[in-house]
Amino acid sequence: MENSAKKRIYLSSPTMHGDEQRFVAEAFDTNWVAPLGPNVNSFETETAAYTDCGYAAALSSGTAAIHLGLKLLGVGEGDVVFVSSLTFSASCNPIVYEKATPVFIDAEPDTWNMSPKALERAFEKYPHPKAVVVVHLYGTPAKLDEIMQICERHHVPILEDAAESLGSTYNGKHTGTFGRIGVYSFNGNKIITTSGGGMLVSAEEALVKEARMLSTQARDPARHYQHSKIGYNYRMSNVVAGIGRGQLMHLDEHLRLKRAIYRKYQEAFADIDAITMNPLNPKGEANNWLSCMTIREGSGVTPDMVMDALEAENIETRPIWKPMHLQPVFAAYDFMNYNDDGMSVSEDIFNRGVCLPSDIKNTDADMELVIGIVRRLFNCTRVSK
Ligand SMILES: *Cc1c(COP(=O)(O)O)cnc(C)c1O
Repeated sequence: MENSAKKRIYLSSPTMHGDEQRFVAEAFDTNWVAPLGPNVNSFETETAAYTDCGYAAALSSGTAAIHLGLKLLGVGEGDVVFVSSLTFSASCNPIVYEKATPVFIDAEPDTWNMSPKALERAFEKYPHPKAVVVVHLYGTPAKLDEIMQICERHHVPILEDAAESLGSTYNGKHTGTFGRIGVYSFNGNKIITTSGGGMLVSAEEALVKEARMLSTQARDPARHYQHSKIGYNYRMSNVVAGIGRGQLMHLDEHLRLKRAIYRKYQEAFADIDAITMNPLNPKGEANNWLSCMTIREGSGVTPDMVMDALEAENIETRPIWKPMHLQPVFAAYDFMNYNDDGMSVSEDIFNRGVCLPSDIKNTDADMELVIGIVRRLFNCTRVSK
């Protein structure tokens, strides 16, 4: 009763501004309510300009973009593909769609992303993977200098899963633009959203053209319907692209607000030794899509206690992604641990972590409420700054 009366405080929900409706209305007014159309073309060029990625293909989801990206890199039956273990299942499901074999790579503690050390070990055991899928978890850039150096030495292309990291940079360059192919997601909870959608980006125009072709049923350039390849219905619709164009106008604002949320938590928990915020990468700037914390073992507080205490006040949280190598569906596949023995880094982060409310519509009062509840669990009642 009391719970339902309380306003819900969200983890990360869509934030619309009105500009989206303008582009959507334009699509309706001109009857461009189809895949293809001016919004799709503009959303692609505007995203390409924003990220400086070269070329972009707007697709129905980030998962579709990963799937087509793998196909463009030639991934097929029996191929080995290295992929971050600490991620969402969409990073690796498309590997299995293609009957290829994922090998899961552990995280390192500095950024929570693919460990270069574990990646080296993977290359020792599997010298010829077809591709490496690198994720930038919660918006923090991975150790790209090290990872790219390893992959270049082995002549293996990188597919960057930047689904969570649109707007994050590394060495001054946007994540998603380092790999041969990059992927962004516009799913409902991402930093900007089209309700659902994704983008495949590359500096190579031919790859992006091929992605557009495969995403529209792989029609050959003939008058009649002729197909030389298996196609997909993965193209973004012109209505959805209109939402994306309006959202993109506000990406800088979303970045500013997401980063402010992270800093707020960081300052608020700075005096609690048992709490550590999710790491950033000193070589880059994270978009801080989600702010997460880990709790030191033996502090007397568990992630479940934090999630239960917040849920009791109608506040949404989420566990850290459960590593892929611990998922029942992927139990048959190999995993390269960062540690020489014992628990992996990704499992440790999963065990000790919580994603905190990171919605850019949350007010200062909402943030104070969340912070106060967490601080009280750690017996810290001093009012935070
Ligand atoms: C959201 C997400 C995806 C999938 O994107 P969709 O647009 O939801 O298909 C892929 N990888 C990661 C890491 C994600 O968080």
